[in-house]
Amino acid sequence: MQTKSRNCICQDTQRHFLRRAFDSLELEDAQRELLISSFRETRFSIHIMLRRNGGDILRTFQGYRVQHNHARGPFKGGLRYHPEINQGEIRALAQLMTWKTALIDIPFGGAKGGIAIDPAELDSWELEVLTKRFAQKMEPLLGVHQDIPAPDMGTNAQVMAWILEEYSKTHGYTPGIVTGKPVELSGSQGREEATGYGVACITRKVVSGMPLPIKDVRVVIQGFGNVGSHTARGLSKMGARIIALSDLKGAVYSEAGIDVEAAVSHVAQTGWLQGLDATEQLSNDELLELPCDILIPAALEAVINCDNAGSIKAKVIVEAANMPTTHQADTQLRERGVMIVPDILANAGGVLTSYYEWVQNLQEFPWEYESVMRRLEQRMLRVYGEVSHYADENQIDMRTAAYEIAIGRVSRAIQLRGF
Ligand code: NAD
Repeated sequence: MQTKSRNCICQDTQRHFLRRAFDSLELEDAQRELLISSFRETRFSIHIMLRRNGGDILRTFQGYRVQHNHARGPFKGGLRYHPEINQGEIRALAQLMTWKTALIDIPFGGAKGGIAIDPAELDSWELEVLTKRFAQKMEPLLGVHQDIPAPDMGTNAQVMAWILEEYSKTHGYTPGIVTGKPVELSGSQGREEATGYGVACITRKVVSGMPLPIKDVRVVIQGFGNVGSHTARGLSKMGARIIALSDLKGAVYSEAGIDVEAAVSHVAQTGWLQGLDATEQLSNDELLELPCDILIPAALEAVINCDNAGSIKAKVIVEAANMPTTHQADTQLRERGVMIVPDILANAGGVLTSYYEWVQNLQEFPWEYESVMRRLEQRMLRVYGEVSHYADENQIDMRTAAYEIAIGRVSRAIQLRGF
């Protein structure tokens, strides 16, 4: 599947899931329009000089910031550096943030942004210059109570530090302007592992409803980056049997269970999972179709689609990645009785901990690691309980339930504020 078509598939999928929730809530067209329209969409041209082959060349990159909705609080959402991004994709991701922040019940709205660039094309100095120019252009939109970016694909804590520096030049030291910062620059303890740990907590909760002890539950995880590796580590510490893991190069499998800490060390040494001791090599396609109890996609969008939905054997899918399941696959799997814990719930631990980081910055009082993780786990489980209860009560799937709860909260805020 090409990246371009993957973007289109994700936008279609998002529209489909929203329509399902809007229909179920019996919303009128005008209400739907109000909920899906962006508050503001901004496109920037960012010019920088690059030194190539002994000479300077001027390059222009397109940057975006889509602010979808701020009825419940400041706009919140990541910045993505990726060559294929476009305004449509950023718009869909900004909307997803609005529903995610509402569902996890933090006082933020939704936004997303980024630059159409492959960050690997630039050296660190060029990336710093590009990021600071982008921050200058975004400056009128940003504010601790207005719009707070965070890292996303292709960006990281260092990129947030550069934005903090640029913003602080005119506003004084303002750590609350971005989240996902280095801990040394007022970032939060636990932010790095937060998304994966949240996925692990939710998965353990799902397992508690199965007629199997956690040590006998077979878990398969696609993707071993930030989210996948911390999900695997969390679940492994909780006693689960991780039978397969994968990265861009392929999958490793052991029916007896993989030693996750050995996998982390192996990746630190070699860069990849390939060749991990006591495992067999599989392809990523084979991994998705392995017989298992829980499948956790933690890599890319649209990996579970019409081509493979019929072959997926997992009883439960916990969506750690954003939009890993297309709407057609979602329908097929639900008809077969596969339970899907949707992305806006499963991976919300990241933005939840971003909120905790922002609160610590406003308070100018850092929290201990244990305090962050305890609050993260408690909130994730509380919201999981709310979504499960709503789904059972209304005889609907968890995704529609999650969207309905989120849409209800955003609609209510709009009504109360009298937009
Ligand atoms: P990452 O770049 O750290 O890791 C991605 C992993 O996926 C890597 O192991 C990579 O090798 C693997 N991968 C890439 N292409 C693949 C392919 N074709 N097949 C199999 N594996 C492949 O990214 P991440 O931060 O872990 O994010 C993963 C997903 O989780 C994304 O969808 C992201 O939007 C979502 N997400 C991340 C966060 C966060 O806090 N990092 C929060 C919410 C959602």
